[in-house]
Amino acid sequence: MTILPTYNMLLVPDADLYMRVKTYREVTGRVPTADERVTLIVSRESTDRAEFTSESFYPIGLYGTIKEVAADGHMVIRTSNRVDIESVGVTPDGRLDLIVSRREEIDDLGAEEAARRTEAAKEELRGFLSHQPWGGTARAYLETQNSLGELAAALSPWIESSNEERYAILAEDSCARRAELLEKFIYENLEMAKLSQEASSERQEDYQKIYRENAIKKQLEYLQKELDEMHPENVSDLRRLEIKIAESGMNETARKEAEKVLSRLRQEGDHGAETGMLYNYLDFLTSLSWKKEEARPIDLAHAEAVLEEDHFGLKKVKDRIIQQIAVMNLKNQQSGSILLFVGAPGTGKTSIGQSIARALGREYVRVSLGGVRDEAEIRGHRRTYIGAMPGRIMDAIAKSGVSNPVMVLDEVDKLSVSYNGDPASALLEVLDPEQNSTFTDHYMNVPYDLSDVLFICTANSADTIPEPLLNRMEVIQFQGYTPLEKLEIARKHLLPKAMQAVGLGDGALTVTDEALSAVISDYTREAGVRGLKKRMDTLCRTAAVQIVRGNDHLEVTPDKLREYLDMNPLRHRSVRENTVPGIVTGLAWTPVGGEILYIETMFTPGTGKVIVTGQLGDVMKESAQLAISLVKHMFPGSAAMFEKNDLHIHVPDGSTPKDGPSAGVTLTTAIASLVTGRAVPSTVAMTGEVSLRGGVNPIGGLPEKLMAAQRAGVERVFIPEDNADDLRDVPEEVRSALTIEPVKTVGDILSRCGVEPDDVVLKAV
Ligand code: ADP
Repeated sequence: MTILPTYNMLLVPDADLYMRVKTYREVTGRVPTADERVTLIVSRESTDRAEFTSESFYPIGLYGTIKEVAADGHMVIRTSNRVDIESVGVTPDGRLDLIVSRREEIDDLGAEEAARRTEAAKEELRGFLSHQPWGGTARAYLETQNSLGELAAALSPWIESSNEERYAILAEDSCARRAELLEKFIYENLEMAKLSQEASSERQEDYQKIYRENAIKKQLEYLQKELDEMHPENVSDLRRLEIKIAESGMNETARKEAEKVLSRLRQEGDHGAETGMLYNYLDFLTSLSWKKEEARPIDLAHAEAVLEEDHFGLKKVKDRIIQQIAVMNLKNQQSGSILLFVGAPGTGKTSIGQSIARALGREYVRVSLGGVRDEAEIRGHRRTYIGAMPGRIMDAIAKSGVSNPVMVLDEVDKLSVSYNGDPASALLEVLDPEQNSTFTDHYMNVPYDLSDVLFICTANSADTIPEPLLNRMEVIQFQGYTPLEKLEIARKHLLPKAMQAVGLGDGALTVTDEALSAVISDYTREAGVRGLKKRMDTLCRTAAVQIVRGNDHLEVTPDKLREYLDMNPLRHRSVRENTVPGIVTGLAWTPVGGEILYIETMFTPGTGKVIVTGQLGDVMKESAQLAISLVKHMFPGSAAMFEKNDLHIHVPDGSTPKDGPSAGVTLTTAIASLVTGRAVPSTVAMTGEVSLRGGVNPIGGLPEKLMAAQRAGVERVFIPEDNADDLRDVPEEVRSALTIEPVKTVGDILSRCGVEPDDVVLKAV
């Protein structure tokens, strides 16, 4: 007899068991034959056959006879009596060795009762199957089953139940009890099948409801749209907002918020307390562009031409911008490094931002940050505030009408911290590419993607910009223009624009180059061209009056400027004519450009005090101390002079605060000149930080300082040797007008100016 272990099949006496021929072959090593007798033993869990032990099986099994071996790889085994398994051994070659004895059952049911209950179960199953689309074949199969055991065995492949549950049926000795267990098995599972079918049909009803609802909504929308088109004047504000929200392409969060606010607006009605606020909110949200613009490749040659057309000079700046555009093209991006343009007013920082927008074919917006102290001005007020408004950034986005404008943030150096938060840190969020794709303005309360905005910042000086903000930007210096450059700018840009603005046609007004140069040198005093632009505007307005009065062709020459501009020439800050010991010309850098300054020193009878006047910062006061020590050291003979007198140091024109160490050499030279009585010509200027040992250290802002020197009529300039490289950035026109002498020590300056150490002339006052 063959022993077949079975898994998870409902084994009951007098039922058909289906088993794969393959399983039989694996166990016996041969092909099954019909009428063969087999013993079926039930394994507790599906372990690998190789790992079977006697513990792997339940103690009751079944006899069976192979009824048929089908061509599809299955065989049918007819089960008969149950057997007690007395022992299971495993032979060395891995086969099972079994001792079994027949196990009797208690026939307490009776054939009639068994048939009746089988019929009742069949009736139930028939009822269930009659509602199934596939019920036909199943019903036919059902009719061939003759006992509860057969019915249950036939159902068992589709039913999930554990081995224990199934074995409990097999192990039952009482026929009546087994019948009950079988009924439980059949009826319970039948009920479950019914339930899940009901649930799924309910679900289906739900789905149908949703489909229907959506279809009705669509239909309504369509009809409403048709109505709106027929009578556009009747479309209510609410409806208009609803349409705008639907068509805006907002992100999911924004749309939900907008719909929420819209339904609140509906509840509030026309005269609710919050109606205005809610309405404004939705109006703002829907006025933003939520569409992502596609990155278009930019034609570099075209961009270059646009930049060239709008601005004269600024070669370095333009080159850097072209590089940025090239990188954006390569990376298929709409933004890139954040550029910070630093320079004096009127040097073209803002207007070149506008040209960049034109070169890229994008919208331009400008946000002025000068004097912003409140974080909410950047990031908006929460809507709970009365009069809440969006911040300046989102406001600018709304104005631009697109999601990718070129945004110029003007005067980032003029942000200040106050008790209302730190606007710089809010700005940091705006500019940080890691965060700005979900920038959330407090007023909007939903994220907006700023990552496609091309930000450009401008500042007069990078010194006051908070470090974390500055780190995110790339600084580009605008140095200011030389008189020749200004002449070109006036001729090619400012004058034609001014003429156009007042309606003067070509040829109606000629301004000679001499007149333009005179305006530049005598009527303006600046690093940029803002004043020059104003003068050109005034000139054109005056000319307009003359032309309307009948003068048709006007030529402006230098002698007519006084009349045309209606102002006196500016008292020009040029070098002084008289040279006095103790007064030396220095060069300073200020946020509005370079400037010359005088350091004046004088001894007054006293007790060795040092008096410093003029608007000087702490650094400059320290430099004065350093200079005094240095002079005392270099001119030992002067000690008595310092003891008997007070030294007064003054820097005139105190209206512009000055600070920084670059006046070190000038202070030293001035004091040395005072104690030696040797005057330094005022056409000699100098700049450089001085060390206690008299070394000259490098300084910043050299180009601006040299331009100022040239403007003021200085002829000779001492600069720190370490700054010699910076001369590359100085326009040729300025370099050739000056004798520039790089020096290593302050002693070099003194000897070259004829202020010699052994020359002490005690001029005690
Ligand atoms: P900033 O922002 O540096 O203060 P602006 O950009 O406002 O300066 O420039 C002031 C005016 O000067 C603008 O009308 C601008 O067109 C003009 N301007 C400045 N630089 C140039 C230049 N290089 N070429 C032509 N116009 C210029």
